Amino acid sequence: MNDKFEMYLQENSLKGLESIPKSDLHSHAGRGGSITYIEQLANVKITPPSEPFNSLKEMNQWLNDNVKCYCPGFSGYLKRVEAAFVQAKNDNIAVLALSFAIDEIDACGTIDNFISIMDGLHKKFAPETEFLPDLAVGYEPGEQSKLDEIFSANWFRGIDICNYSRCYSMNELKKICQKSRDSKLILKAHIGEFGGADDVMRYAEELELNQIQHGIAAANSPQIMKWLAKHKIQLNVCPTSNIMLRNSLNYQSHQIRKLFDFGVPVTINSDDLIIFNATVSQEYLNLYNAGLMTADELNTIRLTGLNEVNNYA
Ligand SMILES: [Zn+2]
Repeated sequence: MNDKFEMYLQENSLKGLESIPKSDLHSHAGRGGSITYIEQLANVKITPPSEPFNSLKEMNQWLNDNVKCYCPGFSGYLKRVEAAFVQAKNDNIAVLALSFAIDEIDACGTIDNFISIMDGLHKKFAPETEFLPDLAVGYEPGEQSKLDEIFSANWFRGIDICNYSRCYSMNELKKICQKSRDSKLILKAHIGEFGGADDVMRYAEELELNQIQHGIAAANSPQIMKWLAKHKIQLNVCPTSNIMLRNSLNYQSHQIRKLFDFGVPVTINSDDLIIFNATVSQEYLNLYNAGLMTADELNTIRLTGLNEVNNYA
């Protein structure tokens, strides 16, 4: 029970909520900053998307045309990661899991360079935030050959399978997951954002996942929700992202309600703040104002997220 957190929800105080410690466990590093930060940096006006996107392709096009054009190239990328750490500080994100794709490491030249750049940004802009970096894999074939070198640096804390392009078979993913487990990483995957409940269970079971990014499709199956609850598989949910990609109708009917009722551990996260324009504090407020969750329930979810540090070895 945190009286202040609940009071700020009831008072509709975004400022108040920003002062309360929270987690963001599902955020893509180069997309985790606020639109305002980029606006100030480039001295431009960016209009956030007003309509849901019809596809990830359309979403990426919006990002290119409205954000990346103002912070291009490698230096622009670093500014966007900087924005993600600044956001963690501004929204009192006490525990932050940022995911980085392998091409982001390649852009830094070597894994050692990459680590020193990211540690530098963390220390400079959000030194009080507990930082849990995830390695995102699944964007391009052939990445596996780089895993040994990356894991040997012992820097990443989790792996995030993003197999949207289906560049890996289940067997290949199993090998990647085994390697990750050997390196003591937490296992996560983007599943059940699109697709069905069966996918969520199949991937969670076959890959022995610890957590699922999104996973909201599981809400269509009581049996699968019970299974997730029994195995304490945490779903890192991003409500605004789900609405903006047409995977949820609105906040009033968001799947997190059902998942919570079935005892599935859930957390509330931003996904791609620079596109979806809803901070973690705003996400809590949206679900409260929609009448979907009570202040007490949202506080329980907040505490689940803060407990994340104890899930790591
Ligand atoms: Zn995501």
